[in-house]
Amino acid sequence: MRALRIPHPGTLHLAEVAEPVAGPGEEIFRPQLVGLCGTDLDLIDGLVDPAFVRYPLTLGHEWVGLDPAGRTVVTEGLIPCGTCVRCAEGRENLCATYAELGFTRDGAAASAVAVPRSLAHEIAPGIDPLAAVIAEPASVVYRAMERAIPASGARILVIGDGTIGLLAAALARVWEPERVDLRGLRTEQAILAEHAGVDRFLTRRAAKGYDLVIEASGSPAGVAAAIAATRRGGTLALLGYLGRDVRFPLDVDALINADLTVLGSFASTSASWRSVVELINAGTLDAGWLVTHRFALTDYVAAVDALRHPGGARGKIVLEIPQG
Ligand SMILES: [Zn+2]
Ligand SMILES: [Zn+2]
Repeated sequence: MRALRIPHPGTLHLAEVAEPVAGPGEEIFRPQLVGLCGTDLDLIDGLVDPAFVRYPLTLGHEWVGLDPAGRTVVTEGLIPCGTCVRCAEGRENLCATYAELGFTRDGAAASAVAVPRSLAHEIAPGIDPLAAVIAEPASVVYRAMERAIPASGARILVIGDGTIGLLAAALARVWEPERVDLRGLRTEQAILAEHAGVDRFLTRRAAKGYDLVIEASGSPAGVAAAIAATRRGGTLALLGYLGRDVRFPLDVDALINADLTVLGSFASTSASWRSVVELINAGTLDAGWLVTHRFALTDYVAAVDALRHPGGARGKIVLEIPQG
């Protein structure tokens, strides 16, 4: 079969490889759509913390496809052991043994992928696969929201106009906030911010006084803006990676004086996946609008190029895997 492989950092190519073999409890799934994100670029470039990656590797941790019975499914990307203390707590993202599709195990940018059956979530008939392909990033956002637990009537600011930021803005509605604003960099993203239902799309203006700020830009300037925008006693949720060797000078005294809750949120849990799939199946989270670019698997070079050099309104970039 064909698979989009990173044999070693710096190289990406379509390779002819053997079909995966299902291990105990696993099944073979047929991916249809595979989303690409900034983390995939970091994987290609060798910028992901070595503790969280194993090369050679098939790319693809965001996907929707078919199970052996022909049902449309998404599967969780983290593969938890199910028996350690953190797994027992429902914090599979902190499992003692880290394994993840598209990071340490072959991902879904291929004709077939092996995944434990228990991690598959069925997508209801009639739901557009484009609305399901964002299940992974949505589960990452949902898990952060579950930790931040905004009170109803909260004023929420999202920093970052990429797919995580846009999804955070869309998902924040579940918590019935007073308003959700989004601070971005590119005015071209305004149309997507509108789809996400944001009250105000800010590009330059300083923002202040928010109960919850979600940092999804992954830039030092974004983190600084996020701290400044969180009200005293508010919560700052960090979702955007700055990059392995980037340090940010923390004004600790200011954080203490502001009585801030600062939280990092890593990946997703089974519970966040169940919640997100429920929202997708109910039509409450209908974010097909987020997919702005579609490429055939064979056009992966153009897809990666579009990911590296955003132009115009750019949401999720998706690869279409040929069927049959
Ligand atoms: Zn991703
Ligand atoms: Zn575990």
